[in-house]
This record gives sequence, C-alpha cells and structure tokens, in this order.
Amino acid sequence: MRTPLIAGNWKMHKTPSEALTWLGDFLPKLSDQNPNADVLLGVPATHIAAMAARAGGGPLGIAAQDLSAFDEGAHTGEISGAMLRDAGATHVIIGHSERRADHHEDDATVHAKVAAARRHQLVPIVCVGESEEERDAGQAEAVVLRQLEAALGDMAFSDAGQLVIAYEPVWAIGTGRTATASDAGAMASVIRDALKRTLPAVADGVRILYGGSMKPGNAAELLAQEDIDGGLIGGASLQTDDLLAIATAA
Ligand code: PEP
Repeated sequence: MRTPLIAGNWKMHKTPSEALTWLGDFLPKLSDQNPNADVLLGVPATHIAAMAARAGGGPLGIAAQDLSAFDEGAHTGEISGAMLRDAGATHVIIGHSERRADHHEDDATVHAKVAAARRHQLVPIVCVGESEEERDAGQAEAVVLRQLEAALGDMAFSDAGQLVIAYEPVWAIGTGRTATASDAGAMASVIRDALKRTLPAVADGVRILYGGSMKPGNAAELLAQEDIDGGLIGGASLQTDDLLAIATAA
C-alpha cells in the first residue's frame, strides 16, 4: 500500500555539468525500466534548478540536502525553503548525521528545519539514527525515539505524503557496514509504532527509509522488511546503474 521511495543522497559530489551528463544517462534508463518505486535524488543546492528543469516533472524528483531554519534575511550563506522550492526541489533531507556531526545540528535545529520545510511545502526526509557507542550501550531505540520526538514535536500532518523518515544508523553510513535486515526492520517498526502514537491518522502511510551502505547486493533483503519502504542511498546513488538496480529491487 506504500509506494517504495528510493532517494539518492549525492552529498558533495559532482559539479552541475557532471550532474547533467549523469542525468542524460540515467533518465532514459529510468523510463525504460520503470521501477515500482518513486525515485528522488538529493543534490547540492547549486544543481537543483538545472537538474529539476532537465528532469522536467518526470519520474525523477529532485531533493535538497539541507535548508535554513530561517525564511529570509541576514543569514549569509544560508538557503531558504522558498529558494529550494522555487528552484524545483520537492523534498529536503533534514538532520542527516553528517550535518549533526559536522555542523553541530542538534534536535532543536532539526525541529526548526522541519518546520521551515513545511512552511514552504517541501517534504522533509527526517534522518534519525544511533551511533555505534549508543547501539553497543543498548540505547539505540531510545536515541532514535528521542530524535524522532524532538524533530516532529507537536507538528500535525494531514497527509502521509507530507513526511518521510529515514532510519540511518550512523555506523553504517559510508562505511560499507550495513545493519542486518532484521535489525533495520525492527527499528523501522519501532519508528512506525511511535508514529502511530503521535500521528495516528497518517502513521500507516508515512514512508520509512533505511540508509547505511545500501547497494544492489543488499537492497532486496532490506526492502523486503515490512516497515522499510525504501532507501536513502549515498555512495551507490552516484552510479546510474547502481541506483537503478536498487530502485528495481524495491
Ligand atoms: C547517506 O548518505 O545517507 C548514506 C546512507 O550513505 P551511504 O549509502 O554511502 O552509506
């Protein structure tokens, strides 16, 4: 009942012209293979307008990787939700562990950014996930639930399509280590149960992604878990064939 969502996260890779060349290869293959999944690409802000124009409202959506918590004003270097939306983004990744670590984004910042995304009709892809130390200490669930609660707080959603959650154990991101399918599936179910308590009207329809070294060889098993509705894919989204293989596994 939930259409899978396969979302790439290019991080800080490729120039705008390399991105258009990549699209020239990817878009015809995507149309050809027509996977049973929505496909989205999170790209640097400098790429959004040109990539969204090239993708042209077709089967590939374009996402931003971050946004400002502010709407406008004296915030040098920041990019607002309105700017991203106008450039052609439909979704925005928020609270990625690299931003939490490199830019000291805390739970309050993540909450403010989710609110900003909603003010500008961008669908937030809210990232949550525990570190290796937290998992070893038996705190994985508590950390994920705290991050989720802090990010969404008292927000209301009238439609399940207005929210995506990505469970990304920090120790699995970019490391080649993947959570076992059953551990990842169990955490996705914990997230679904929490959503049922706080957002009962939409919880069943919200898509929960797994992220952390997902690749063609492990995607099918992860995506077969009942509460995993797709993937947030870093490294493997840089290669057209790998991203397509994951999308067709969904
Ligand atoms: C990510 O960037 O969110 C991610 C999961 O990266 P990778 O697939 O490379 O682990």
